[in-house]
Amino acid sequence: MSRSHRAPDAPTFPPVIVLAILALRQAPAAELRPYWQQDVAYEITAKLDEPAGVLAGDERIRYTNNSPDTLETFALHLHLNAFRPGSRWSDADSVEGTRRFNDLKDPDYGFNHVRDVRIMGEPVEPIYPFAPDSTVVRFPLPRPLPPGESMTVEMEWDARPSTVPRRQARQGRRFDFAQWYPKVVVYDRYGWNERPLYPAGEFYGEFGSFTVDLDLPDDQVVGATGVPVCGDPGWERANRNPSRPVEYLRDSYGASTPSADVCSGADSGRKRIRWYAEKVHHFALSLSPEYRYEGGRFEGTAVHVLYSPGDEAAWGGGVAVERTERALAWLGQIFGPFGWPQLTNLHRIEGGGTEFPMVIMDGSADQGLIVHEAGHNYTMGLLANNEWREGWLDEGFTSFQTTWFWEASGRPSTYPETEAGVLFADLDGWSEPPSLVAEAYRDFNSYQEAIYTRGELFFHQLRHIVGDAAMHRILRTFYERWKYRHVDEGAFRAAAEDVAGRDLSALFAQWLHTTELYDYGVGRVKRERRADGWVTRVEVVRHAAGRYPVDVAVVAESDTAVARSSGLAQREWVEVTTRTEPREVLLDPLVRGHDWNMLNNRRSLRFKLSSLVAPFPGSEIYFHPYFSTRSRRDRMTVGFHPTLWYNDAGGVTLGVRSRSDYLGRFEQDVTLLTFGTGWGAEDGVSSVDFFTRLRNPVFLRAPNTSQTLELFDAEGRFGATLGLERRRQNHLGRGALWSHGLTLQWVHPHDFRYLDRRYYDNAGTVEVAMTNGVSGRSGGWQLGLRTSVGGGLVYNRGGLDSTGRADLDPFYFRGTIEGTARKPLARGLDFGVRVFAGAAGGENEAVKQRQIYFQGADPLQQLGNPFLRSRGALLMGEDVRYHAPGGAGVRGADPRLSTASIVALDLELERTVLARPRARLLNRIGIAAFGDFSHAIGGAAQASLNDRIRFLGDAGIGIRADHRIGDTRFVTRIDFPLWFSRPEVAHDLSSGDDELAFRWVFSFQPAL
Ligand SMILES: [Zn+2]
Repeated sequence: MSRSHRAPDAPTFPPVIVLAILALRQAPAAELRPYWQQDVAYEITAKLDEPAGVLAGDERIRYTNNSPDTLETFALHLHLNAFRPGSRWSDADSVEGTRRFNDLKDPDYGFNHVRDVRIMGEPVEPIYPFAPDSTVVRFPLPRPLPPGESMTVEMEWDARPSTVPRRQARQGRRFDFAQWYPKVVVYDRYGWNERPLYPAGEFYGEFGSFTVDLDLPDDQVVGATGVPVCGDPGWERANRNPSRPVEYLRDSYGASTPSADVCSGADSGRKRIRWYAEKVHHFALSLSPEYRYEGGRFEGTAVHVLYSPGDEAAWGGGVAVERTERALAWLGQIFGPFGWPQLTNLHRIEGGGTEFPMVIMDGSADQGLIVHEAGHNYTMGLLANNEWREGWLDEGFTSFQTTWFWEASGRPSTYPETEAGVLFADLDGWSEPPSLVAEAYRDFNSYQEAIYTRGELFFHQLRHIVGDAAMHRILRTFYERWKYRHVDEGAFRAAAEDVAGRDLSALFAQWLHTTELYDYGVGRVKRERRADGWVTRVEVVRHAAGRYPVDVAVVAESDTAVARSSGLAQREWVEVTTRTEPREVLLDPLVRGHDWNMLNNRRSLRFKLSSLVAPFPGSEIYFHPYFSTRSRRDRMTVGFHPTLWYNDAGGVTLGVRSRSDYLGRFEQDVTLLTFGTGWGAEDGVSSVDFFTRLRNPVFLRAPNTSQTLELFDAEGRFGATLGLERRRQNHLGRGALWSHGLTLQWVHPHDFRYLDRRYYDNAGTVEVAMTNGVSGRSGGWQLGLRTSVGGGLVYNRGGLDSTGRADLDPFYFRGTIEGTARKPLARGLDFGVRVFAGAAGGENEAVKQRQIYFQGADPLQQLGNPFLRSRGALLMGEDVRYHAPGGAGVRGADPRLSTASIVALDLELERTVLARPRARLLNRIGIAAFGDFSHAIGGAAQASLNDRIRFLGDAGIGIRADHRIGDTRFVTRIDFPLWFSRPEVAHDLSSGDDELAFRWVFSFQPAL
């Protein structure tokens, strides 16, 4: 069933039109060449020198040129040369910040050397086109090889896996020969696929036959591609299920099986085994004298399982056999019968898993892993894509079928998490299309995200568009047409379009070649009553570049109907008929469209009470449990709860707060409406206050950017804040994290019954600040740096003289810089250091509320906290010694102490004495020693003090306990600043005027 690549209809057009179409398509000429594949037949004889870890042998390749080209060179992969210093692989690792093979010394690194290469009987000289990388070797042919002709290539080689595992590995007497012999480079429409081996995208091989003769120590147990024609692979001796005889399948290849008389005559203590395989593009091999064997069978396929001592519970007792059979049953159901005689599932040295024809090397006997790797025997093995060029066609495909397997087994679908992960990467501009070649990705994480996750999602999208039944037929058709052959996007798309009977170009183009966002919304809606029911006409509006057939549901009084729009046009009318009166219109009700903004997907056709409190239709309204905010993919959430606090002006203050959210990142608004009753306060003020914060509205979506708007009239001050912050990181999930922000803040105090004069001067401020931050890891340190630079305007309606501060300038400058560094010195022992410098003012001092504070946060940083911001608030009372971190961080000091500029150093050494990671309360308890040292520069400290304070410091010990309630993590911290340099300005004045005294402060936040 030869089928040319995407040109089946071409011959029916006159040649001129064909040329015109081709010119318009601008398709590369290679795409239009007919499919071919070369023939290879390997004969390998190899002997293992176990102490040296070296497999040495000779190899004879019969190569037939089925291409239309005359070949002048020939090329081989020497993959094991990747696992040594100087290879492209090692360099790619180094760029990623890992060093696996770059520092390996003899005898730990891997190699594969070829010698005495003869082609067409004549010696040839090797060329290493990517030197110093030597994973590809090229040879000029003694004579050109015309189409249809064959040649013989002969060589000697030796191969040694590395002791650091990456797929291949050696460990004592255990060997995973994942890549080991000189392997023919594929010659296809793109020419010789000479690619150095990189950490991603290795598999691509010519289909052919392998005759492999091994000479091994006679106690080795072997798993390999193909069947043992003669000799003992050691299974019978290792068999843990003697009631089930071992199936060798020695004659499964019938007449083409090579001779079985080469296995006798091994040296004493050794044995010979001949393996044979047909229609495979690779040959994998694994050995261990300790392997345990169990056998099984699914329909025509034998199952061999090899596991290690200690695996009896996880792998043994038929567990791994049964799981492998189950995988084969599922794969047979979705694709068709397995194309080879056996499947070996073995426990390799490395964790994770890798697929080879007829062999899966797994790090565990997890069912999902087995289904994934066995699935690769179809997608990659039998349907052999070029993994370097189109990795999504094996990794995305097998990830998809694994998810489908779990769904079919009755587990909840993992589609929502997969989709959300891709969506977040799309929204922040991290995604790259799956169609890039392997090493063109920004980094390995981006490769994984595109090839596995986005690749998987592509197949889910296809399945949703065509439906389950057609998806089954697509898989079977693709397999039927292309098994034992090389496949690509065109081959799969042709199978999909033929089965579905529709053009799928938009889906393939967008999902595989772009990272477009999708957003459909409900436009106009028209209802019309007819004799037999209702017709609702819905305008589907496309707000983003991505196009996808979107389902349109109309929920009526007692029935629901769904129609599908093509999703191509900017605006498209869809007609939906219901029997009863329509109530609501809903786009993409199953949440399959990858629509990033589902807030515009609903339209309620009648009044709902909830629309009074929630701005988007369909919002979920719930009681907010204070410590966790709900988040949903398909709608907004709005949580409400009551609030209650006290201060000396408003007395008992009652209120209600709402928190909204979409996707955990948009529409994160907070609204608070409170009423100060005046109860319990001496000069009680009754007043109604509000605070509202709007954060990241969907209409301002921009990658890595967040926007904030606050408006408030809260406890004696009103004002507004406008903020914009952008974050960036050079690599997905690693590297330094940078942030840049701009804020504009206006605060106008108007009722000093709420305000502590030692925090606020009677003046309004308008301040603009630029903030920059960077955090990251280096040499075991967790480092952070944050700066803020800005300036502001001070005003009073009665003029600055009326503030009582004749020295005030209308303008001030304000800047802070804070650096933190943390490092674990030993297990459970952490060291932390913070340096801080801050300055505020102009020619004279700044207003109180903008000065730099010795103890902690400044008054405007506490605006949002009702327990700290007003006179007599719960954490602000005279006997309550609370430390809100910030400023110079001298935790034992009076929190109202401030000045124009301070430099400070804070140190902590903390020992964890109890860790219970799963507990909610007290999941960690630590004891700490600390010291805080600050020095004021410039103006005097506090106006109320007679003498100037230059140096202020404290030291002591403390206790911390970590907790988690809902999604909120917090700490309770009690510090004892037993030494304090100026006892007269300590927070805790009751302890007298000795520098050494018992004092305490507490906090719900870490000190640094
Ligand atoms: Zn995989």
